[in-house]
Amino acid sequence: MQTIRGFRDILPEQTRLWQKVENLAFELFEAFGYREIRIPVLEKTQLFARSIGEATDIVEKEMYTFADRKGDKLTLRPEATASICRAYIQHKMHASDPVRKFYMTGPMFRRERPQKGRYRQFYQIDAEVFGIASALVDCELIFLQHELFKRLGLTGLSAHINSLGCPECRPDFTGSLLDFLGEKKHALCDICQRRMTKNPMRILDCKAQTCQAALAGAPATVDHLCPACEDHFNTVKSTLQKQKVDFFIDKSLVRGLDYYTRTAWEIQTTSLGAQSAVAGGGRYDGLVKELGGPDTPAIGFAIGFDRLVEVMEQLEQIPEEPGPDLFIVALGEPAMEAAYHLSCDLNRSGFQAVTDFRGKSLKALMKRADKLNASHVLIAGQTEMAENQMILRNMATREQVSISMDHLVPELKKILQTDNG
Ligand code: ATP
Ligand code: MG
Repeated sequence: MQTIRGFRDILPEQTRLWQKVENLAFELFEAFGYREIRIPVLEKTQLFARSIGEATDIVEKEMYTFADRKGDKLTLRPEATASICRAYIQHKMHASDPVRKFYMTGPMFRRERPQKGRYRQFYQIDAEVFGIASALVDCELIFLQHELFKRLGLTGLSAHINSLGCPECRPDFTGSLLDFLGEKKHALCDICQRRMTKNPMRILDCKAQTCQAALAGAPATVDHLCPACEDHFNTVKSTLQKQKVDFFIDKSLVRGLDYYTRTAWEIQTTSLGAQSAVAGGGRYDGLVKELGGPDTPAIGFAIGFDRLVEVMEQLEQIPEEPGPDLFIVALGEPAMEAAYHLSCDLNRSGFQAVTDFRGKSLKALMKRADKLNASHVLIAGQTEMAENQMILRNMATREQVSISMDHLVPELKKILQTDNG
């Protein structure tokens, strides 16, 4: 049996890096007042169709949608924002405290063509803020990504920023885009021709070469902003500069979802070939209302966890596998049972203590301790046990000492502390 196409296992050799990212990210988010939310992987299809937008790549061709046994149309979540909005509305969070800051991580599902950095089940690290319209929140979110990547030791990433305007100024922009595309309509791909009536802004995001060529010199959203959107974008730019967050304005960036307003951004890398976007984010001030909640400004980002880890692997930022404090060597059945209880007791006392129950020889067990990178080995030899003693071996210096079983924990604490500095 094999995994299905585009799905993969993440093995223990790899998860250390994933944990490192998670720990740093969650610590950073918590310090800024964000709290974890956990949402289901399966939702009603309608939630994503309505929020992400019918004319987007995700909804048009990438969703895993099926009818359950009763015929309800369900979809494996392709992203987290829609579900978090649904939760915000469903639990009436706005009533008790409209200002909420969330983070989460988990798998997302999109039926795309698999390749390096692109999977059908992939993971995102997500953060969302509800109830704050200020551009300073946009900066906070971009800063969080920037700071996380810095703490992870990543270099060569760049933040692409754009403003998509709002319902006030969008019609002015789409009008001039449609005028511009007028004669070039037939140069566009089929999907973009349909987008001209459904959602013209989406055309800017099309990856087809012919569409990109037709778009050369096309009008930009930033040149059609209303005064309020213009102000908002100016604050984002000046505030990021003060925090020394590098960015540049990318007029063609619109992002693959319909719900974005005002600030949208992407963090890109040159080190993953075609899959250049490591993270993306944007404001979606209209979405909560659109989904049946009160009018609530909101904004969020998603980091592509798989791609982030791949960038780190390229930089060889693979943390060394730490070995246990203690490996207990036990020879023979009674000694093995004693070693089992000892490992439980030692772990209760705060040590990492590992043993082996295969009944192997002393030589084989010492090899095993070495392989596991144990810092010390505790040997329950027959003669020593008879005298209520154990041997402690420092694997680095090969020094051995006898320790009385009566003072095992305090003695081990003392010795390990000195040996391991
Ligand atoms: P792309 O343009 O690469 O398809 P996207 O715009 O569809 O990305 P978003 O919906 O913005 O992606 O999701 C946020 C992040 O999730 C992306 O920046 C990317 O790092 C990651 N991501 C998106 N799709 C995949 C996938 N199929 N496999 C792995 N990571 C992905
Ligand atoms: Mg995509």
